[in-house]
Amino acid sequence: EELANVQPRTDEKEVLSNIAFLEGAPPLSEHWSVFDTNDAVFNAARTAQAATVIFVMGQNSQIEQLARYIHTLRRQRGTALKIVVRESVPSLRATDERLLLSCGANLVISHSSALSRCLTLIESIQNQQFSRRVPEDLATLFSNTEPLKLKGYQKWDVFCDAVQKIVNNPLLPADGKGVMVALRPAPGLRVEQALTLCRPHRMGDIATIADKRLVIFLSFCRVNDLDIALNHIFPLPTGDIFSNRVIWFEDKQIAAELVDMQDVKPERWTKPLPITTEPGKIINATHDGRHWRRYPEPRRLSADTGEQSS
Ligand code: C2E
Ligand code: C2E
Ligand code: C2E
Repeated sequence: EELANVQPRTDEKEVLSNIAFLEGAPPLSEHWSVFDTNDAVFNAARTAQAATVIFVMGQNSQIEQLARYIHTLRRQRGTALKIVVRESVPSLRATDERLLLSCGANLVISHSSALSRCLTLIESIQNQQFSRRVPEDLATLFSNTEPLKLKGYQKWDVFCDAVQKIVNNPLLPADGKGVMVALRPAPGLRVEQALTLCRPHRMGDIATIADKRLVIFLSFCRVNDLDIALNHIFPLPTGDIFSNRVIWFEDKQIAAELVDMQDVKPERWTKPLPITTEPGKIINATHDGRHWRRYPEPRRLSADTGEQSS
């Protein structure tokens, strides 16, 4: 205790920043030191004590390295250091943000905040002591960002076990583990046919079928983002494929539904249709999460070579 008070905090006003943070602006005062890379920022920060350290995150491939840097600094340099991560292009999932914060970052700033807003946020953490506990073992923190190593269709019991494990994992955020949704196909469509339209991309997104319904678990998805996620997964609006849906997103709700699901006898599990070797593109369109974009195909209208246009 006493040591911490006696230690000089001469670098309290210093700012060690990745140059990209300033977006071309000059350093804002004599207290600012800028560096070309996050590696250089990290090296400078290894002797810092209470300075503000600013990393810039431009690609999700940097996330692991950045998490390591932050973890090292927080464990080695103590609680007075102010560690900030600025997202420069949209690349951080909510799980990534959580990872950086649990490694010891004080603040993660979204790409959508303008530079001036970032500076205000950085002001707001001056003289702040970092007070959360940072686990020594980084591997545990990493594994919590992708706890399910499964994707796509799973047999009913495998699905139930997987979701159960997630819901029972105390290291994952309470009531923030994901959304489970049960979908009943529109009349005329069988559930195994509906399953062929269900194509999860993200690791941790799993689906199963039984009892005339398709059940999907979307890892870490928040309930307000459910439609965005479903639009990524189905090539058609889900309202056209399903007539009814039920949603669970709190731990208790999911756990209770799992109990009912585990009672469904294997005779009622539905077998998926055999996988065709070449699924091929069904429609010439992409979905950006909100709207469909169809792409025109070039067609020649006459047999002319059409070379002599002027
Ligand atoms: P977004 O695409 O608008 O998605 C918003 C949120 O919806 C995501 O927040 C996530 O909670 C949920 N979501 C969307 N699609 C899926 C999905 O296929 N599976 C699951 N389980 N959830 C989904 P999150 O994760 O915080 O991501 C924020 C934004 O970051 C996304 O906004 C997107 O713009 C970008 N992003 C995240 N991961 C990727 C990725 O792997 N590829 C691309 N291209 N962008 C990504
Ligand atoms: P993944 O998590 O298995 O996701 C595979 C693909 O699903 C992504 O390919 C993307 O096409 C789609 N996808 C997943 N989530 C979203 C989303 O929220 N929005 C949109 N628009 N698409 C989504 P992509 O983008 O090529 O990424 C390949 C892999 O790179 C991902 O595999 C993941 O492991 C990693 N990755 C990409 N972006 C992020 C990110 O923002 N955060 C993290 N932690 N990993 C990411
Ligand atoms: P969006 O691209 O944002 O377009 C919104 C609305 O603007 C469209 O509503 C349509 O009324 C009008 N619009 C946009 N581009 C054009 C165009 O090139 N020609 C004409 N005549 N009108 C245009 P709409 O039709 O209800 O489409 C809603 C969304 O669906 C569009 O949003 C787009 O994301 C997608 N979409 C629909 N049809 C097409 C298409 O033929 N091509 C493409 N690329 N996307 C389409």
